[in-house]
Amino acid sequence: MINKSATEMAAALKAGEISSVELTQAHLDQITKVDSEVHAFLYVDNEGALSQARAIDEKRKSGVDLPPLAGVPLALKDVMTQKGVPTTCGSKMLEGWRPPYDSTVVTRLKENGVVILGKTNMDEFAMGSSTENSAYGPTHNPWDLTRIPGGSGGGSSAALAAFEAPLAIGTDTGGSIRQPAAVTGTVGVKPTYGGVSRYGLVAFSSSLDQAGPCARTVLDAAYLHEAIGGYDKLDSTSINAPVPPVVAAAKDGNVKGMKIGVIKELQGDGYQPGVLKLFNESLELLAQQGAEIVEVSCKYFDYALAAYYLIAPSECSSNLARFDAMRYGMRVGSGSAEDVMNLTRQAGFGREVKRRIILGTYALSSGYYDAYYGSAQKVRTLISRDFENAFKLADVLVSPTAPTTAFKIGEKANDPIAMYLNDIATIPTNLAGIGGMSLPSGLAEEDGLPAGFQIMAPAMQDDRMYKVGSALEAALVSKWGQPILASAPKLGAK
Ligand code: GLN
Repeated sequence: MINKSATEMAAALKAGEISSVELTQAHLDQITKVDSEVHAFLYVDNEGALSQARAIDEKRKSGVDLPPLAGVPLALKDVMTQKGVPTTCGSKMLEGWRPPYDSTVVTRLKENGVVILGKTNMDEFAMGSSTENSAYGPTHNPWDLTRIPGGSGGGSSAALAAFEAPLAIGTDTGGSIRQPAAVTGTVGVKPTYGGVSRYGLVAFSSSLDQAGPCARTVLDAAYLHEAIGGYDKLDSTSINAPVPPVVAAAKDGNVKGMKIGVIKELQGDGYQPGVLKLFNESLELLAQQGAEIVEVSCKYFDYALAAYYLIAPSECSSNLARFDAMRYGMRVGSGSAEDVMNLTRQAGFGREVKRRIILGTYALSSGYYDAYYGSAQKVRTLISRDFENAFKLADVLVSPTAPTTAFKIGEKANDPIAMYLNDIATIPTNLAGIGGMSLPSGLAEEDGLPAGFQIMAPAMQDDRMYKVGSALEAALVSKWGQPILASAPKLGAK
């Protein structure tokens, strides 16, 4: 049962073929079996999960109508608060902290009867592209344990690829849902900014952060998207509009007559040939289904990475100021408040987090503000205009999700710029606040590792990504004869 999709699990639960307790236990058993190798989880909530599952089973027995995903297990990125359950954000700074409240995403998961298995590993405060910046050690890619699972949400994606959970929650500030999906052969969606509440999502860069669904199929992601999405009065940037009809779009999957725009700037130099080959083969499959492929140019995208690495650190330097050793989390030393704050931050934050805080503080300092932060904001506007113009020519825009397949653990750990380049294709959508999806395009010929196909849609038109994504997924799965993860190595033999 753990190899099935969440939709299939939900159907089996509904038909009474399996109970949620049995399904949850099967996943907890898989975690016990493989997570010593994968390290996708920072915390496994055995008792909490089983008691949620029991409650759902009882409700079902009593005959009440349950939401579609009721009883299906899920892995939660450790950046989301869950009442009473440890939430570390992959940082020593929050070790041992148990939040006194649920994030809105968790509230909605509970309302939908989704069973939360535990918290997944991540780069510290979501800063990174490989999960190597976690203070609790890296997560390993189930396709090759010597490689990274992407980041910052590598734990969530690895949990899906290792069949430890059929669904997961990620957050995406510059690519942290989509890039891990790409390198693990899974599906990840960054909804339109404001489409899923940020209440209880520990802030990294508030104008970019967006929670979203991670799954093994496009339809599964759609169900999860509808469960967690929609207006929330507790988030001042939440969009007050209905969730786009993503489940219906995923079921439809008809791309006949749709215009698909290939972004010229997001290919070529720096992209692995095998990744580009798979991208082009996917385009061919979409064309065969009646989509029209057009080329579009977004000339300011070349500046997206630079703008992002000024805006995100600037916001992070402000957001992370709350970790002051006074209110919650770690406290080191004694003496004046300033001494304690200094000692605590020195001990509690890792290298990358410190680098970003220093970068952001500098970019915001008087005398430099206009030159750095101000210019970056102008670039942000130009990138939004690039998208607006491109969407006049196409219904959705596409690119490879990440320039390469998963690299080796340690390979880029001491080269921040090389690490930042992983998100070159995902960052523009965050800057513009629009939606982006990654789904597997196949295994690259050089290394046999998964690559991702990215689909982007205008704000609040997230359903278009699901329509195109499910069309491509269906074509690819029928070409391969099985889902991509069926060819992943089997873990837990040790
Ligand atoms: N890798 C990017 C960064 O380090 C994006 C991270 C994210 O989306 N949370 O900032």
